[in-house]
Amino acid sequence: MVVGVNRPSRLIIDASAIRHNVSEEVQRLDQKSELFAVIKANGYGHGIRKIAQFTKEAGATGFCVAILDEALDLREAGFTEPILVLGITDPDSAKLAADNDVSLTVGDQEWLNQVSQQSVTFSNPLKVHLAIDTGMGRIGFQNSEEFAKAADFMREHSEKLDFEGMFTHFATADEKNTDYFNLQTSRFKEFLNALSEKPKYVHVSNTATSLWHAACNGNMIRFGVGIYGMNPSGRAIESPYELKPAMRLESKLVFVKKIKAGRSVSYGATYTAKEDEWIGTIPIGYADGYERRLQGFYVLIDGQKCEIVGRICMDQMMVRLPKEMPVGTKVVLAGQSGSESISMTNIADYAATINYEITCGFTDRLPRIYENEQ
Ligand SMILES: *Cc1c(COP(=O)(O)O)cnc(C)c1O
Repeated sequence: MVVGVNRPSRLIIDASAIRHNVSEEVQRLDQKSELFAVIKANGYGHGIRKIAQFTKEAGATGFCVAILDEALDLREAGFTEPILVLGITDPDSAKLAADNDVSLTVGDQEWLNQVSQQSVTFSNPLKVHLAIDTGMGRIGFQNSEEFAKAADFMREHSEKLDFEGMFTHFATADEKNTDYFNLQTSRFKEFLNALSEKPKYVHVSNTATSLWHAACNGNMIRFGVGIYGMNPSGRAIESPYELKPAMRLESKLVFVKKIKAGRSVSYGATYTAKEDEWIGTIPIGYADGYERRLQGFYVLIDGQKCEIVGRICMDQMMVRLPKEMPVGTKVVLAGQSGSESISMTNIADYAATINYEITCGFTDRLPRIYENEQ
């Protein structure tokens, strides 16, 4: 996608906030535990390579990504830390992963069979983390005997397969009610007990688990949304330390006009001025990931809330101004302005989704500007 560098809309990412969030979390871990930074989906929209660098500086010793291509991008950028792909990878890509020293997630015996039968040789045995489905219902072994057999199978095929880790993922770690969480932990214990020898990494914790159930952590955590300073529960549960939001979204007014009472704004003419009003146009729209359903939400200009009026277009949108303002006036769509601020969680609440989806949704047309890198 063409990056809009000659347009005033931009994402600003604060490296010091990222380092703060990661080092706060690292300090809470016991000495034998590691923090792997989850930087899938372009670092939740913040930029995969930059976030890899900032989290490493703050104490992350490995990375988790969703797909093999993200892992290969990190290798290409020169990162030599362990990288785990959390999703399922095609067995045909096992050699590519092994040759690049990328660890893969495996959720069934059939995958291991296929790889063991391939006639290709790997430069190193493929590092495998077995996923255990204790209740997430997404990927992984549901039966502890099959799981233990898979572990044995890898030990018998050690020229190709290296049993490096086992893990599960919680469905409700960000909720106040812990019943389902406790059910999942008790199932995970069954799987642990089924093994004669544990792998190098035993891990269960996403951000929410590590923040609120640290006792379960194992010896590595998969720290994701917390890196970016967002609370995985939205606002339901408070974080034990301050999570500093790392991303701001800013733009400028590019057109300002007065409209007469009775005039309408944007597609569908869904907004009609009740009195004479000042309207500002901002060069951002749903093609940038500023979603159409945010019509009626607000932006901040000079510390004042300005309502988004009329439909959000692909590349532009309009706001109602409290008074005439000059073209070029700064607009804050996420971040601080005077005594007001808009968080990704505020945006998510209005759009009836979660903060994760907001930052992941910002497209590559928005330039990502990094500050406080040193
Ligand atoms: C995305 C993901 C994480 C990170 O979750 P956060 O809530 O962002 O901390 C951890 N583990 C798995 C398996 C994931 O898919």
